[in-house]
Amino acid sequence: MHEENCVFCKIIRGELPSKKVYEDDETLAFHDINPIAPVHVLVVPKRHISSVMALTDDDAALIGRIHRTIREVATVTGVAETGFRVITNTGPHGQQTVFHLHYHVIGGRQLSWTM
Ligand code: 5GP
Repeated sequence: MHEENCVFCKIIRGELPSKKVYEDDETLAFHDINPIAPVHVLVVPKRHISSVMALTDDDAALIGRIHRTIREVATVTGVAETGFRVITNTGPHGQQTVFHLHYHVIGGRQLSWTM
């Protein structure tokens, strides 16, 4: 299940390039094209889900998978020890710009609450 014009679906399908960090059958992690910190990786489900608000109780296992991928990303990029932040922007006030559920994994420097 994918959305024809979704940029992250295109990355998942290999129609757009990305710098992959980790991949399994349900999730993909790749470097953000416009990083705000030394480590800035996006973790996405391969199935098109528009945002946190589109998740259902049936997605409980997928949410667990996503968190497993976040841990993989933290380990592979070296931020597991120093710490990092996970962010999911949702809707207009959350400044979500890509409407395919994604988790920013941000680290590699000291963060402040306002980044
Ligand atoms: P949002 O603003 O929706 O929370 O996050 C979207 C993120 O996707 C932004 O940080 C933006 O830089 C990133 N992004 C948008 N288009 C692409 C792309 O084509 N490739 C990659 N790697 N990242 C992208």
